Amino acid sequence: MSSAECGGGHVLGSARHMPRGGQPEEELSALLPASIAVRFAEMFPGTHKGRVRRRDRKRAEMLCKAEPVLQRALAPTEVVRFATNGVRQLMWWLLTAGSMNPFANRATLVLTDKRVLLIHTDWKQRPRMFANQLPLDRVHVTSGRNSYVFIRTGKEQLMFHGVKRSEAAHLRNLLESTATKKGGWQNLCPRCFHPTDSAPESCEKCGEEFKSPKTAARRALIFPGLGDFYLGYRKYAMLEIAGAAMLWAIFLTTLVPAIQTRGLGGALVAAPLFALIVLIHVGDSFLTRTKARNGLHSKDGSLPSG
Ligand SMILES: [Zn+2]
Repeated sequence: MSSAECGGGHVLGSARHMPRGGQPEEELSALLPASIAVRFAEMFPGTHKGRVRRRDRKRAEMLCKAEPVLQRALAPTEVVRFATNGVRQLMWWLLTAGSMNPFANRATLVLTDKRVLLIHTDWKQRPRMFANQLPLDRVHVTSGRNSYVFIRTGKEQLMFHGVKRSEAAHLRNLLESTATKKGGWQNLCPRCFHPTDSAPESCEKCGEEFKSPKTAARRALIFPGLGDFYLGYRKYAMLEIAGAAMLWAIFLTTLVPAIQTRGLGGALVAAPLFALIVLIHVGDSFLTRTKARNGLHSKDGSLPSG
């Protein structure tokens, strides 16, 4: 259990977690990662009533799982204000293959006194492929309802959903008080966490090489799933490859007998299916390119998770 490995923040004799005394603070501090400073009152807004909710525990564990990334990415004096998890959504994905998106785009969102940090994770909240950050002075507007949080910058809007309702509301409140300037989300090097506004081929600080969105798109065009495989989303890639292979098999078993019995004109029977297959190849190519551009995908590795 990660809380046993990671927890160990101490309240007594330590000012780091800024506890206000009492039992909930002690219990939660013991679950928090020892190496990360947390602003207690903002991280756990409900504990002044003297109770620790299950969700508070979950969020402490969430930070624990993100600790390998936070340790490297945060500045020495940086303080965590809040953390929650959800699914990063892109507007036009919703209209197309949005329903597949949650499998790839789960993230832990960590708000600090300096930035909003997005850590791509698996279903168990373990850091996976890439990370992005938004310095707080780039936050333009925050909005959203229910389980949605929209963070608008000078450049684009991030749609984050599937967040626990009360946590989404709390996060929107915390972000509302921040300043307004130009610029958007920054990509972080998955190895040294150096920020960049662009999508370079390698990290200017540590030299880590990144996978190319163009290569990912080209491979997806050749066969759906190959692009995802290249990026490292292996399980999802297998599903895509299996699905596309099945369509190709159906296509060929329709086409071959049709040509055999009716000559070249018989090929028309399989034409609609062929059009569908082409559409899927092209569509997957675009989706894969977008996925690659979500963050810097390291050529030999992923985010530290343990
Ligand atoms: Zn680097």
